[in-house]
Amino acid sequence: DAALPAGFGERWVNTMFAAFLDHTETLADLDRRAGDGDFGANIAAALRRARTDIATELPTSYTAWLTAVSRGFLGTGGTSGPLFGMFFRELARCTSDPEPSPADFSRGLSAGLATVQRYGNAEVGHKTMVDALAPAAETLAARVDAAGDPGEALDATADAAVKGAAGTASLVAKRGRASYVGEVARGVVDPGAAAAALILQAAAAAYAN
Ligand code: ADP
Ligand code: MG
Ligand code: MG
Repeated sequence: DAALPAGFGERWVNTMFAAFLDHTETLADLDRRAGDGDFGANIAAALRRARTDIATELPTSYTAWLTAVSRGFLGTGGTSGPLFGMFFRELARCTSDPEPSPADFSRGLSAGLATVQRYGNAEVGHKTMVDALAPAAETLAARVDAAGDPGEALDATADAAVKGAAGTASLVAKRGRASYVGEVARGVVDPGAAAAALILQAAAAAYAN
């Protein structure tokens, strides 16, 4: 099927980075309330590393753009660094074309979710990034099967991630540092899930622009 528009990977990465920069403090605050407070710093460090990589590698394909993001996260500490690093590595691998088709993108998202779950051993409801990524991957797969408009599919995917992230507020964590604080973290959105929602909102926005 037809590829996502030319420059999609570049626009996605730039839109995502802008969103992370806008929300670094919010994400840091969530991790202060439900974790150890380093999530904002971890995201900022991954961004810095990815930007340096991009400035030297000058990526021209979707795979090259997403690989730079993956490397940025893989070089970062915290639990989220390696997990997002592996997540983006699967997305980078989802196509060998300059831009992925919606089906490639859907496969990449599902493979990214699978690798996060393999390494993190988290299920939906454990109050992690999986709570945003799983409904997003499921929604996109269903939309791709239905062969609808790619923009609408990405909007629905982002909405599913946002809803999943918001739902983590009412949960008590079963994985990650938030699980150490138990009830204290109830009422707080999981920062990794919030970041995953930003990532998928950025994909929808990158398609629309
Ligand atoms: P750390 O807890 O090591 O300080 P970060 O602050 O970088 O890690 O990232 C915290 C986020 O990582 C959480 O909000 C959660 O979404 C995610 N996370 C933590 N543990 C897991 C896990 N086992 N599986 C999936 N995601 C996890
Ligand atoms: Mg932390
Ligand atoms: Mg930490």
